[in-house]
Amino acid sequence: MKLSQKSLSISPSPTLSIDAKYKEMLTNGEDVVGFGAGEPDCDTPDHIKAAAIEAINKGFTKYTPASGTLELKKAICKKLQDDNGLTYKPSDIVVSNGAKHSLVNVFCAILNPGDEVIIPSPFWVSYPEMVKLADGVPVTLETTESTGFKFTAAQLKAAITPKTKAIVLNSPSNPTGMLYSKQELAGIASIAVANGIFVVSDEIYEKLIYGGEQHVSIASLGDDIKALTIVVNGVSKSYSMTGWRIGYTASTGEIAAIMGNVQSHAASNPCSISQAAAVAALLGPQDSVKIMREAFLKRRDYMVKRINSIPGLSCLTPQGAFYVMMNIKGVLGREIKGKVINSCDEFCAHALEAAGVALVPGSGFGANGYVRWSYATSMENIKNGLDRIEAFLK
Ligand code: PMP
Ligand code: GLU
Repeated sequence: MKLSQKSLSISPSPTLSIDAKYKEMLTNGEDVVGFGAGEPDCDTPDHIKAAAIEAINKGFTKYTPASGTLELKKAICKKLQDDNGLTYKPSDIVVSNGAKHSLVNVFCAILNPGDEVIIPSPFWVSYPEMVKLADGVPVTLETTESTGFKFTAAQLKAAITPKTKAIVLNSPSNPTGMLYSKQELAGIASIAVANGIFVVSDEIYEKLIYGGEQHVSIASLGDDIKALTIVVNGVSKSYSMTGWRIGYTASTGEIAAIMGNVQSHAASNPCSISQAAAVAALLGPQDSVKIMREAFLKRRDYMVKRINSIPGLSCLTPQGAFYVMMNIKGVLGREIKGKVINSCDEFCAHALEAAGVALVPGSGFGANGYVRWSYATSMENIKNGLDRIEAFLK
């Protein structure tokens, strides 16, 4: 029996596979430290949990409108207005089972077979596969450390073809942590508007920025770019709610209606209880975000300093999110603990086996020669993991 050619072309998510492997090793009592999947290590704040418990006790346990409750959509509109200066109506919002699901809805809503989507590398592992799922063609726009892993408006212009339908923008970025300034975004917006291409703006890490810089949503830079932007966000990272599965989009009402229709057949509504919890997350006290950000800042600084002190390794200082892209080109070709390491995949496989450290190879992010650490784990784990990698390379 011939199975779906399209689905056969989809590779598994390397971040989730490495995390699953790490968790399995832990369960088997193996000595391993995990830096794989990026999820905040702190618990979901109590007032959010309380809202979910209240929802259960009140019997808020049935289907909701497929694209989300009006209450949550209103809370999202308020958040977008207050935080990002963006005015949307509840009918412009679609709530989904995590931002990952939101992104799949976006590509389903905007792509026709053969449409190209520009994805700057290093990119989050899921973007190219999502585009393929929606019959689009992912086109990599390579960036390097020399430009801080950021693309310029000129590079974007050169990458556009008659088939280009959209560009994915992820600021702050997973996996590089890089943040685009307002001026850089204005340059990108003018190219997008001049060429009539959509901007899929994944802003899931907006609250996790260290230092003085501000997050700017590209949609806030004018009516023309707002009409072309689909803002993607969610509560997973900001409120340590990865397991609750609530993400959302803000777009024109036309695109929102298409996504709502697709979702109504593919998934119905996101979990009613999680939607009630998300209202509490967005409208309730925000101090947990600050506490988390302060903890991540200390961990980032420690990790960056340690990595740059190990011969053969280096990294830039990420401005946001909770990942560090470590350049391992200086150790490639070397024999490490009885094995010659020629690629980031071999580095990660050997680091897991011989040093008990779970890291994600850059290959899945379109960045060979790099390895991703997540610092959304305790300082104790971070110290332990770096000690192990230092000893591994000695
Ligand atoms: N975008 C980026 C860049 C991410 O790193 C993640 C993390 N999984 C997501 C979207 C999706 O987040 P979630 O589905 O948990 O809301
Ligand atoms: N976004 C996180 C990561 O990149 C979680 C895993 C995933 O969804 O890919 O590690």
